[in-house]
Order: sequence, then structure tokens, then C-alpha cells
Amino acid sequence: MTKYKHLFIDLDRTLWDFDSNALITLGELFDTYQLKEKGIASFDCFLTYYKAYNQTLWDEYKNGKITKAYLSVERFYGSLKNFGIDNYEMAKQMAAAYIRISPTKTKLFPQALEVVESLSKKYHLHIITNGFSEVQFVKVKNSGLAPFFDTIITSEMAGVQKPNAKIFQYSLEKTGAKPIESIMIGDDLEADILGAKNVGIDQIYVNFENKLHTESPLHEVNTLAAILEIL
Ligand SMILES: [Mg+2]
Repeated sequence: MTKYKHLFIDLDRTLWDFDSNALITLGELFDTYQLKEKGIASFDCFLTYYKAYNQTLWDEYKNGKITKAYLSVERFYGSLKNFGIDNYEMAKQMAAAYIRISPTKTKLFPQALEVVESLSKKYHLHIITNGFSEVQFVKVKNSGLAPFFDTIITSEMAGVQKPNAKIFQYSLEKTGAKPIESIMIGDDLEADILGAKNVGIDQIYVNFENKLHTESPLHEVNTLAAILEIL
């Protein structure tokens, strides 16, 4: 019999397919802003540049070199400029549209709903996610995950991001869970796995792409359905 009562589950890239939803949104923006008509040969050309530039900007953000607000607009402004479109106003509009539209997309990883439904019959389910409450709540609601979760905890609510111990302590307090009867499920070795380990919570690492690593999570799976064999 399992000792667990509370499952804490990450949202982005664990249940909610962040990259597919971003791709769908960017495709819509490419059409809405008529980027082909403005001279960009294809969506793939745009996407290849955008993805690389977005990654560069995220690295700079993580190193404290730029702000999130700058990143949000610059990834569009810089990408458009690369294709000869120097239009800051349009970049600003696209950035706002991206943030408004992408959380409404509903693509989950295979069997996400079936797995959380099944788990919800045996355990209390809670989400712990790094992100803004307004955005993350929309994702949970629109994708149909909401009915299976007792609690949704965002880094905005906790005031700090995973892997900071304070967000896990905040989550335990808010849900009345003890570390010993809890397990964290997530795709990020640092934020989810190390974060949970540091506060004495067991962990299941969701490694869809079978990435090589040197950490030692308690469990590791490469599909969501495999979680049902553990719990
Ligand atoms: Mg994640």
C-alpha cells in the first residue's frame, strides 16, 4: 500500500504541452500579422529564427542581463528585424497577443487527462507551477485539468519560484500535506526534482525525451501512463 496522500504535479512541459501550444500560437500570429505577405518566405523560416533567438534571450534573462518585459517584446522585434521588418509597434502587439492566446491552447501530453483522473481517485492532486497565476489558471481551466486538482499553487502566489524551498513549504502548508506523504512529479531536474528533494519530498522525474543526466530522482518515467505503475 502506498504511503502517499498528496501528489504535487508540475504543469508546463509535464502535463501541458508548452512547446506544441507555443508553436500553434506562433503559427496563428504568422497568419494574423500576414508575415508571408510582408516578405518572410515561410512559417518554418520564421520559427527557426524565433526559437533560437528566444532561447538566447531566455539565457540572458536567467543570467539577470535583461528583464522579462524586454524579452517578451524583443523576441518578436528581433525576429521581425532579422527578416527586414523593422516595426516595434507590431512586435509589441504580437508579444501581447502571444501572451493572451497561448494559455488558451489546450494540447496536453498523451494520456494526461486519463492519468490525472485515475490518480485523483486515490490521492489529493495539486499543481505547483512557476508562472503568473492569471496565465496558469487559464491553462488549467481550458485544458480540462481543473476538475481533478484540489489546489493550484503558482510561484506568483508563493512569492518565489521552484526550486526555492519556500514554494514547497508554502504548498505543504496550504494543502495540509506532510513531506513524508507527498511526492512531486515534474519534468525539470532542478526546479521539480532537486527542489522537492531538498525539502524531503519524494520525486518522479518525467523525462519524455530520455535526456541523459546525472541526478538520481527516486523514480523516472518517460510517459505519463508509467506513473500509474508507481502510484
Ligand atoms: Mg515544467
